[in-house]
Amino acid sequence: MMNQELEKYIRSIKNFPKDGIDFKDITTLLKDPKGLLQTGNALYDFAKEIPIDKVVGIESRGFFYGPLLAMKLQAGFVPIRKTGKLPAETVHQTYALEYGSDTIEVHKDAIAPGDKILLHDDLLATGGTARAACDLIEKAGGEIVQISFIIELAFLNAREKFEGYDLRTLIRYD
Ligand code: AMP
Repeated sequence: MMNQELEKYIRSIKNFPKDGIDFKDITTLLKDPKGLLQTGNALYDFAKEIPIDKVVGIESRGFFYGPLLAMKLQAGFVPIRKTGKLPAETVHQTYALEYGSDTIEVHKDAIAPGDKILLHDDLLATGGTARAACDLIEKAGGEIVQISFIIELAFLNAREKFEGYDLRTLIRYD
C-alpha cells in the first residue's frame, strides 16, 4: 500500500483551534482498525533495521504510537512532556513560539548517555517542537537515530531544521 493512501483516514478541520489553522485530526485514523494497523506497521518499517534503545514520544499525540512502536522494536518508551507534569528531576528546553515561548521536559534518568533514540510525534508543522525535543534529547546524552511523524505539512519547510537527521513521514501535504 502506498503510504499516501493513509491520507483517506485523516480528517481536516478548518479554523481549529483558531482561525487560519487547517487541523489534521488523526482520531479518524486511530479508530479505524485498518488505519491504526497500517500506520503502525509503516512507522515500524521505517525503524526496524536500526538498533533503537528508546522511543521518545512528544506530548500528547506522540503518546499514541510511541509505546506501540517501542514494543515492536523491543525498546523502552520515554515521554517528553510540557513543563510541570513530570514528578522527578528533569532536563528542560525552552523554545520560541509565534507569540512567546514554551518549555518541554524529560526525566533526567530516562535517557542514558549514548542511548539510541527514535523521536516520534504525530505531525510536523513548523518543526519548532521537534527541534526543541532533539536539543533536549541531545542535552540528556541521547543519540537521535531517527525522527518519525505520521503527517508532514511540507509547505512549511520544516525539514530545513533537521539536516543530518533521518526524518521520516508517512503522509505529506504540499
Ligand atoms: P510545530 O512545532 O509547529 O511543528 O507543531 C507541532 C505540534 O503541533 C505537533 O505536536 C502537532 O500535534 C501540533 N500541530 C501543529 N499544527 C497542526 C495541525 N495543522 N494539525 C494538527 N496538529 C498540529
